[in-house]
Parts: sequence; structure tokens; C-alpha cells
Amino acid sequence: MSIIHTFSGNNLDRGDSTRHDEKKLEKLFESRKAKILTFYELNPLIENFEIPQLGWLTKDEFAELKLSEDFSKILFLGFDRDQSPCFALEVNKNIEYKHLGRDLCYVDSREIATEISENETGILAQAKSNIEWNKKNKYCSSCSNPMEPFRGGIMRKCLGCNLEHFPRTDPVVIMLVYKNDRCVLGQTRLRQKSGFYSCLAGFMDQGESIEEAVRREVKEESGLQIGEIKYHSSQPWPFPSSLMIGCHAEATNEKIIIDKNEMTDVKWFAKEEVILALKNKSKILNVPGPIAIAHHLIKSWAYN
Ligand SMILES: [Zn+2]
Repeated sequence: MSIIHTFSGNNLDRGDSTRHDEKKLEKLFESRKAKILTFYELNPLIENFEIPQLGWLTKDEFAELKLSEDFSKILFLGFDRDQSPCFALEVNKNIEYKHLGRDLCYVDSREIATEISENETGILAQAKSNIEWNKKNKYCSSCSNPMEPFRGGIMRKCLGCNLEHFPRTDPVVIMLVYKNDRCVLGQTRLRQKSGFYSCLAGFMDQGESIEEAVRREVKEESGLQIGEIKYHSSQPWPFPSSLMIGCHAEATNEKIIIDKNEMTDVKWFAKEEVILALKNKSKILNVPGPIAIAHHLIKSWAYN
């Protein structure tokens, strides 16, 4: 069975056929069944139950708060299991919601992702990435004229040259390099001195296959050559909109040559040490927690 990572597991029906009918979308937004998830500075509204969850506003609450009259700013996410149409909107101030009688507040996207359900982390990823893309793509990259959103925010069209622009997702290869009972983990400048090491990773180049990107990144960061590559799983990473493509990559040599521009350290770790680190019991090694695909790549190798 494949792993459902944090930021995946979204069970909304994204309603592709509905998106092509702009009038229908507007009608759906006007309906009493509509649910709206607001964001402030790209962080979602959260309802603080014992188990926190996304703080969907009802259509009546949204109307009472007078959050937006401008439908072009509203993004359509899809339909939930009850066929309620779900929308997202970024608000420009940290609104007080107390008078609604609900315990609502904005919480950091990364922090809350470990607290809410799998399905909701997927919705969070979709909404956050889409809000950010729409915000950063107000003008056409071809002719510089303003653009407007269509299809509920999954396409923007230039008002000057009519060019259609679609949201980008940036593929990143992330790989656990191993040879026999040892694996390679690296430390970036940001994590210096923390004992924190993770899988090697890097953005894919244009005109490059996943396998080619894995081989190139490993060679650049560690000088190692790679033989067999096995795909493991993938994870959307909405900061702002990457797709982490997780692989296991078998090294054919052992001598590490570190790329000092990118990494402060890259080295081999014995499986026993890695298992201790996964249990938070190692004195020399910290590895990423379960929010990150790196944790699962390391774990599936260590316990195999
Ligand atoms: Zn244009």
C-alpha cells in the first residue's frame, strides 16, 4: 500500500466540469451549502477543538463578516463528501471571530499540519499553493498586462494577449542514498551544528527524467555515483508548491566529495545509528520527523 504523506490525502472532488462554467461557480458560492476557508498571510483559519480542524465558515457567517464582495478573489477548491462546494479566500487582516461563538484563529501552516487530519492537510496544501500562485501571478509573463482568474482560480488569463497561465508545481527529487548497511545523509547550512541530517535533495532541471535528476543531484552534493534507483512515493510540499519525488538510490562507490557551496556536511551513517535517530535516541544524529517524506524514505530503508 502506498503511503499517504502529510499534505496529501485531499478527498475533495475538484469539480473539473463545474470549473468551466463561471456562472455556475458563482451560483454555487451564493448557495447556503457553500463553505469557505479563509487564510491570513497564507496560514489557515483553525477551529481549536481538542483535535484541531480547519475552521470552515458557513455562507451565513461569511456574509455577516463582510469578508469579500469580489468573487474574482474567491478560489474554488471542490466538493466535499456532502456535495457542499468549498472555497478559499485570503483575507488581508487578522480578523476577530469571537462573536461567532467559535474558537477560531489563524495558525502557521507547517505547525498545524501535524495536528489536523490527513484529508485536511491535503486541502490545506491545495488552498495554500493556489492562493499563493494567484497572488504572485497578477500580470502576464509574456506581455505584462493584468490577468484575471478563471475556473475557480486554477487558470489565469491575460487581458492583453489572451494567453492562459496554469499553476506551476516544482518537482524536487529527494533520495536516500545507501550501500549495504549504511546510508548517506547531508546537512545544509541552515541546520549547521544541530546534528540534523536529512536525505539529499534538489530541484529537477528542465528536460531531465527523475532518474537523471537523482544521479545528477547525488553527484553534485556528494560526488557519489548511483546504480539502481527505486521510486518510493511522492509528497506535495506547499512552500510554495513543490512536489517531493522520493526515491531510494544505491551508490556504486563510497568516497564522498562534498559540495561546500550547498552542504556543510555529507556522510555515511550506519543503519543502527539511523534506527536510534528514528527513535530520537541517537546522541549524534537528528533526522526529520514524520511530516517530511525524508523521514519515511529513511525509515523504510532502515527497517527493511
Ligand atoms: Zn499577455
